[in-house]
Formats: sequence, C-alpha cells, structure tokens
Amino acid sequence: MSPASSCCVLVAGSANLDFVVRASHVPAPGETVLGRELALFPGGKGANQAVACARAGGAPTRMLLALGDDAHAVPIERSLREAGVEPHIVRVADRATGTAFVCVSDDAENAITVAPGANDALRGEDLPDLSGVGHLLLQLESPLAAVEAWAQRARAAGVRVVLNAAPARPLPSSLLDAIDLLIVNEGELAVLSGIDGDLDAALACIPTRGVVVTLGAHGCRARLDGEHLHQPAFAVSAVDTTGAGDTFCGTLVAALARGLSFAAALRRACAASALACTRAGAQASVPSHDEVERWLG
Ligand code: ATP
Repeated sequence: MSPASSCCVLVAGSANLDFVVRASHVPAPGETVLGRELALFPGGKGANQAVACARAGGAPTRMLLALGDDAHAVPIERSLREAGVEPHIVRVADRATGTAFVCVSDDAENAITVAPGANDALRGEDLPDLSGVGHLLLQLESPLAAVEAWAQRARAAGVRVVLNAAPARPLPSSLLDAIDLLIVNEGELAVLSGIDGDLDAALACIPTRGVVVTLGAHGCRARLDGEHLHQPAFAVSAVDTTGAGDTFCGTLVAALARGLSFAAALRRACAASALACTRAGAQASVPSHDEVERWLG
C-alpha cells in the first residue's frame, strides 16, 4: 500500500478492563476449574490495537473510546496515555466501563467473555474530526451501525479504512464497500466467506481491496490488489497468545502509516505479535518499536 498523505492513525473501538486468571486448562461448558492468582490488565480490542500502534512508533495515534464513570476506567485511560495514545473519551454516566473475563491455560490457549458496558454507547456521530488522519482502524466490539458510519465517513474523507473483523460476524456489503484492508483470523475468514478449509478460495471471495488472514504459529497470508503474500511466523516459545492479533493489527497499521511496503509491514506485524506471545497480558505484552528492531537485528 502506498503511504496516505496524512500520517496520524485514529483507532475507534472498545476498551475494557481484563480480569485474567491462569489455570491448567480452559473450562469446558459446565466445568469449574480452580485457577491461580487474579491479574487485572487494561484491554479491549480497540485499546489494545491503539497501544500497539503507538508503541510501534512513527505514527501519532488517537483513539475514540467510551468509558463509564467508575474506577475501572482509570487504569484504561492511564495505559493509553502512557503508551502515547491521545484518547478522545465519550463518558457514559449510566453504564459500567467494559470488562472482560479471561482464562489462560498452561498451554497458552484462552477463553474470553466480555461485558461491553459503556462500549455499546458509541454512536456514528462520536467520531472526531478526521483532519490529519491517514488511517482509521476499526474492530467489531462496537455497535455495527457506528462502525459502518465511521467507515463510510472516513472513506468519504479519503482516509484509509482498516477493519479487524473480530469478533466474527457476517457483514453487510455497505460496510465492506467502505473498507480498504480487512484483517481476520482463520475462524473469522470462514464466517465472512462462508468457506471453511480452503484459504485460497476464502481469500478470493472477500470483496475488499486487501485482506490479511492471521494464522497463529503459521504467520499470515494476505492478498492486496490481486497479489498474494505469505509471511511465516517468527519462532518463539509462546506463554500467552492473548492480544497477539491486536498487536498484529496495531503494528501493521502503524507500519503502513509510516510508509513501509505491504510486505515489510506484514513482517513487522508478525515479529511484534510473536514477541507479544512470549509474555502475559494484552497491552502489557506489546513490544516497543526499539525492542522489535533489536529482535529483528
Ligand atoms: P488472539 O485473538 O489470541 O489475539 P488471533 O486469533 O486474532 O489472536 P492469531 O492468528 O492467533 O490471531 O495471531 C496473530 C499473529 O500473532 C499471527 O499472525 C502471528 O504472527 C502471531 N502469533 C500468534 N501465535 C504465535 C505463535 N505461537 N508463535 C509465533 N507467532 C504467533
């Protein structure tokens, strides 16, 4: 992708406080598992991706988010500011700040339940002024009507729109038509394409100009303007893959905003997300630009 004329990245989406407990395994339906100590981390796909984008450096990062008027909001805002994200906060007095309940198993699998709270109050008209914004990065943890309105307004303003279509759900063509680049994992690609088990066929039927499918320990595959790319994963010993996808998305968009080629941006996103798998938490595990540089040598 060629660089957009403005370099700022705006992320619009969710912010949660994650309550994380490690356990021998993720509970099956109806099962209770005795876990170990509880840890609290700022999370939410939108906030995680904004932090990853800011830590990747080179692109000033702003974020539209909604928070309740409660104590859970405090560490979320602090974490964004510490990472260098400029928050644009919609304060929702009558709803709790979003929370997520995360179980991480000893073999690095996870299961997550989200109580969206204030995140569900975001509306299309909350999107701030787009001057100076080159890329808008969206996810599906906000109301779909708001996501669609943001994408369409950005598209009309000449801003590149990147959608991480997670959590998976079928999407209307009115939204897909406004998207430049779609980022999904294998399960999300299957939901969107209606094709399971044939990556080439699934990638081919996605109507956006570009699409990236992340493949966990197998890296990612991508298609942009008819060209297909594969970036293998970087070998690491994974302890917690929570937030790997968010690190991938934020790093990829920061790299594109900085003017890196699509292939170079994919490589950087795979490197940052592999490093994120080597430690616990979502935002807490996102590596800095310098760390990724040193690691890549
Ligand atoms: P999550 O929802 O757990 O954050 P996801 O399903 O959205 O993740 P994945 O495809 O699992 O996304 O991972 C995103 C990227 O992270 C991959 O493309 C890869 O580059 C990196 N990654 C994930 N797991 C590993 C791993 N075990 N080793 C190396 N890199 C990994």
